[in-house]
Amino acid sequence: MIEIQQLEKYYETTGERVHALKNTNLSINQGENVVIVGKSGSGKSTLLNMISGIDRPSSGSITVNGQNLNDLKENELALWRGSNIGIVFQFYQLLPTLSALDNVLFAMSLVNKIPTKERKAKATRHLEEVGLGDKISKFPNELSGGERQRVAIARAIANDPAIIIADEPTGNLDSKTGEQINNLFDKLNAEGTTILTVTHAHIDHVHYDKVIHIEDGILNEMMQPQTEAAL
Ligand code: ADP
Ligand code: MG
Repeated sequence: MIEIQQLEKYYETTGERVHALKNTNLSINQGENVVIVGKSGSGKSTLLNMISGIDRPSSGSITVNGQNLNDLKENELALWRGSNIGIVFQFYQLLPTLSALDNVLFAMSLVNKIPTKERKAKATRHLEEVGLGDKISKFPNELSGGERQRVAIARAIANDPAIIIADEPTGNLDSKTGEQINNLFDKLNAEGTTILTVTHAHIDHVHYDKVIHIEDGILNEMMQPQTEAAL
């Protein structure tokens, strides 16, 4: 689902060169639920921006859902991203003047993948799926942080993406609400969606198929702790 080979990313700012990702190789299979854990500044958001095509690598190749991103021009990348990747951010990034339902519908209209006639029913179903069936008409400022993040997740799945990437999705939520969001990701994953989350926080290993650490732009896959039953 995601294949990254020998990726390097440098940021060039005035007179300074930051080596944000170093010889990065990563392979994520369809249906996996993967987390990348690392401190602030270790390169997590940079990596997600490479995978979603928001930014380009300095060198190396990235293939996502069968598409080599090097082969796409900027305008093609934006459309490709909209129909292949659902993105969830720490601060939700909902449009404040739109209701929950309209936030999801707007994402559909940008990509034009879901037939117009089916959109409203489908968006409503996504909001029901995240437990907000009774709040589809609410505006973001009428919703709690956890509810806003649920709307963002409903929006992320609006165009039936092959993969969801989430950048610190529970970073602004209390631990109980964060756990509810993680359970929701588990549910989507059980339904077949590939999920890649990055976080600097302590993680609960039970949620993930694969745990990868990142430090100073270097990835390191960890062995999953064996459960007692498997020993
Ligand atoms: P994380 O998401 O793990 O906190 P980032 O990927 O945002 O880390 O940043 C990795 C490194 O790249 C940091 O040293 C950061 O300062 C640097 N960096 C990130 N974005 C830019 C940018 N647009 N220009 C210059 N340096 C950047
Ligand atoms: Mg970040």
